[in-house]
Amino acid sequence: MRLYNGIEPMTIRILDISVASKIAAGEVVERPVSVVKELVENSLDAGAGQIVVEIEGGGVELIMVTDDGHGIPILDMEVAFERHATSKIVRDADLERIATMGFRGEALPSIAAVSSVTLTSRVRGSEMGATIQFRGSEMVRKGAAGGAEGTSITVKELFINVPARLKFLRSQAAEGGRIHTLVAQLALAYPEVRFQLRANGRERFVSPGNGSFRDALAKVYDTEVMESLLDVAASDGEGRRTWGCISAPSYSRANRGAINFYVNRRWVQSRLLSQAVEQAYLGMLMVGKHPLVALHLELPLEQVDVNVHPAKREVRFHHEGPVFSLVQRAARELLVARSPVPVVQPDPALQGPVTLHIRQQPSSQVAAISRQEEGADGRAEGEKPSAELPLLAQALPALRVLGQASGTYISAEGPGGIDLIDQHAAHERVLFERVRQQSRERQPAVQGLLTPLSVELLPAQMQAMERWREMLESHGFLGEPFGERTFLLRGVPTELRSDTDAEAMLIEALELLGRAQDPSQAGDSLAASIACHGAVRAGDSLTHEEMGGLLRQLEASDSPHTCPHGRPTMLQLSTSNLEREFGRR
Ligand code: ADP
Ligand code: MG
Repeated sequence: MRLYNGIEPMTIRILDISVASKIAAGEVVERPVSVVKELVENSLDAGAGQIVVEIEGGGVELIMVTDDGHGIPILDMEVAFERHATSKIVRDADLERIATMGFRGEALPSIAAVSSVTLTSRVRGSEMGATIQFRGSEMVRKGAAGGAEGTSITVKELFINVPARLKFLRSQAAEGGRIHTLVAQLALAYPEVRFQLRANGRERFVSPGNGSFRDALAKVYDTEVMESLLDVAASDGEGRRTWGCISAPSYSRANRGAINFYVNRRWVQSRLLSQAVEQAYLGMLMVGKHPLVALHLELPLEQVDVNVHPAKREVRFHHEGPVFSLVQRAARELLVARSPVPVVQPDPALQGPVTLHIRQQPSSQVAAISRQEEGADGRAEGEKPSAELPLLAQALPALRVLGQASGTYISAEGPGGIDLIDQHAAHERVLFERVRQQSRERQPAVQGLLTPLSVELLPAQMQAMERWREMLESHGFLGEPFGERTFLLRGVPTELRSDTDAEAMLIEALELLGRAQDPSQAGDSLAASIACHGAVRAGDSLTHEEMGGLLRQLEASDSPHTCPHGRPTMLQLSTSNLEREFGRR
């Protein structure tokens, strides 16, 4: 055969069916995990309550998926392997209301095109089942078979006829790891289904399948995070609902690997939803840290288009705005309301010297504190705090300064016990909110420099300066470019400490801005950096009045419990703990 050389025209022909199938298969079946995904989704569509996945050699040597679903009638078995053969949709309009995982009728033919696949199935309630085997799209065997009710599909010799695809696979351990991740994701999508994963004969994962989302989560994540999980449940009154769990700000991970979304039970990747949760955690997590998020989203079927990606990993929302704000608000309100003062508690397991551990304070205690506070801060009984007061300001009680420890921690008394406040973190929080407010109102407090400072910039810094010029100005950095590589700095934010190196500060700001993805992130990291360089430091000695003033300002801030990088501003030794430790109770 003559191969196309790109110069002379060749006759146009319809592709041979086996070539066409392999091309189409490439879209659906990229690697072993794609096979597992398609097979398990078929089991879910068949109403299975139990699904067993067995793999060998990372799925390359063997994939077997067995379910107890409704099964495939003997007469349908062969058709199921034809392209675009599906029992799930019938007409055009059905595409607009997809209620099943599958609908394209492509999985079985695609898998058969690149492997040796055996399907055995017995319809619920029928006496006999059947089995059918395909190799590289050709049927090689068909016959009656016994076996349990439900369906079992075995895939071997995967990609044996597509060496290019085999070459792109990673190690067996890596491919197996992807399958493990997938099964865990599906277990969270369907907590009422029991999933089992066996790899090379060893059990790797089991989900309880009892319908409890938390029980399913507990099989996927460690106990440490389970303690910090908050339950989300919110709807917008227009048929959209979100539910699931998110981690409290006290917990974080180094990557986004534990952020999962399920839209109408389908695991999807979505920038929109990721951004919604990122916004919800704004100012609560350290830069570069990420939460655990496992959120379901239920939307009317006709508001979601699932037919945008061959592997159905992405969806399109018809109304992005309401979806974004439902998720963002549900998470944000929960985080703000529950963002607790960490409580210092003695470790009951230890005898002798008291070791302090930090534990989450249950929300009921936060509520108790805020109730006490209404009396304590002189507000009349029954008087509602003003509507603009953010939730957290109410959760932080009025604190009475006791003194300063280690030149760093302010000790204070509040209704819950004794609080220790990190003076730097607390001041950072106060300045951060002030700078952010000023920049929003475009009224930064600027201190002019007596003589303009000429700062040499690297090309990337120059670019960041040009892109974020307005952002810099609204935060108090005034000046203008001078030539190709110099910036003439004329003013800096007033909040900076007098000993701040203005040049270094500008460079740091430009570096941060250069890394920012969007204006809101840029503004926040810039404000956080100004706050950090303006705040009192650990070791600065403070007068009683200065400490009192700082605490008043902290009480008035939106999120008093964390600094802009997400570290706690305060710890609490609760009265009940003190009583217990001193043997008073
Ligand atoms: P789709 O899922 O898009 O319909 P598939 O190629 O994955 O297409 O499957 C084709 C058909 O085979 C399905 O529509 C369904 O009727 C049937 N089928 C596949 N797997 C199963 C299963 N595990 N249990 C019952 N029926 C199945
Ligand atoms: Mg399918």
